[in-house]
Amino acid sequence: MPYRIIWTWDSWVCDPFSAASYVSEYRALIDFAARTGYNAVIIWGFVDGRHGGVDAAREVAEYGASKDVRILPGVGAGGYHGFSITPGLPFNLDDLLREKPHLRSHIRGSRRVVDHAACLHQPEFREWLRDGAAWLASTFPIGGVNIETNEMDWICDCELAAQATRQEPNRLRYANSYSDLAIAVPIVFDEVRRERPDAWVTYATYEPAWFRRTEDVWLLQKLPREAIAQWNTELDCDTSVPPPVAHNVSLIHSGGWSYHLDAFPPEWTFTQYRCFWPLLREARRFGANQRAMGVEGLVLGCAGSAAMPDNEANYLAYLEFAREPEMDFETFGSRFLSPLYGEKAAPLVLRLMLAQEDLHPRMAPVWRGWTHFLREGAPSRPLLEAEESLLREWEGQLECARKAREAASPDGAARLDVAIRVLDEYLRIGRLSRSAAAAALMREQDSPAGQRDVRLLDAARVLTAEYGLPEELYGLRTQD
Ligand SMILES: [Zn+2]
Repeated sequence: MPYRIIWTWDSWVCDPFSAASYVSEYRALIDFAARTGYNAVIIWGFVDGRHGGVDAAREVAEYGASKDVRILPGVGAGGYHGFSITPGLPFNLDDLLREKPHLRSHIRGSRRVVDHAACLHQPEFREWLRDGAAWLASTFPIGGVNIETNEMDWICDCELAAQATRQEPNRLRYANSYSDLAIAVPIVFDEVRRERPDAWVTYATYEPAWFRRTEDVWLLQKLPREAIAQWNTELDCDTSVPPPVAHNVSLIHSGGWSYHLDAFPPEWTFTQYRCFWPLLREARRFGANQRAMGVEGLVLGCAGSAAMPDNEANYLAYLEFAREPEMDFETFGSRFLSPLYGEKAAPLVLRLMLAQEDLHPRMAPVWRGWTHFLREGAPSRPLLEAEESLLREWEGQLECARKAREAASPDGAARLDVAIRVLDEYLRIGRLSRSAAAAALMREQDSPAGQRDVRLLDAARVLTAEYGLPEELYGLRTQD
């Protein structure tokens, strides 16, 4: 499996959002990749003035190259800020569109334009894309790129794009336009390959996967043969239609949901939150699907730092089950969890992880509703009550984790301390949800809708203290 890729946004990895953190956290992730067998890291937000701009990005790319882990910056070929995230840096798309508003994209199905996306059907924008790709490849020792064209409503619907829509009616229907990829990918491919002949030029096809969009794949077959299609297959699978281009990798948006960063609130950006959610069964299923469909690699999406124990196990599981989907969980445990936790603790850790895969999604909605309430002093998400039987199971899980900790190696114990802290917080919130105070709040949660008042603020404060939840994570935020 030649392509083994971790997909990140900078904000899932940095803590805090600074140059020093950006460089050191990505170095740690690159070390993890090199140690475990991932050979590329996609970085959206690669060049950002808030975390050191060009210099810090170069340092990350150099470090990746030194470890044989390819750094693949995200290239916004239409949206997502272009090549640099913040204005004032080279090839920032927002700067371009302020200066040349006629390049803005027409929102799909409307006559309005969008300020932060450009039209690929205008030659002037294509030239900018070409120059930006040349700049990126000549400025940083990158191992390739990850291209995204306009997504959903940003897909341009102007008169210049009319021909594209005629040849590909699905432009107005799906998340992504293959006609637009057929414009953007060759331009970026040429420039990046000119500078770096072995670069991996990956491009996002979004969803659905090829087997649900066979009528349009002829457009992708016009792309450079060595470009790599990244399909959002998730857990979808169909082995009756072979992948349509020479190189295909499949993406799952389920790498690791938890972040290691105490400084941030329980929910962070649009994917990461405070949790312990190992996904060993899912990883095995994904690996088996990939093998059956004959793709050449995996892209592990929604990946943050490997420092959280569930992320770490997930990243290993997705990789190893993709290599060997027939491996059973016991073998995975003895091969890959034993070195992390110690031989004696590994079977208990495996048991904990397999159980949490199903238990976590049952408890998470309870945790989420109450966490928002405690932080905001208003019921902004549904307030739910945990089932007593779920709390009993959860107690058993904590007991298993504590037993594993006693048997664990010192490094394993440190990992389990993190897991135990998170599991304990979930249990406290589960108990809170069954209290008389919670019952009263749940009865009136719909009226008045989401209003924050003195009584609710007091209730939030009292519950946080009474259930011993860490104030810095769950305490009431001051109103902006
Ligand atoms: Zn247009």
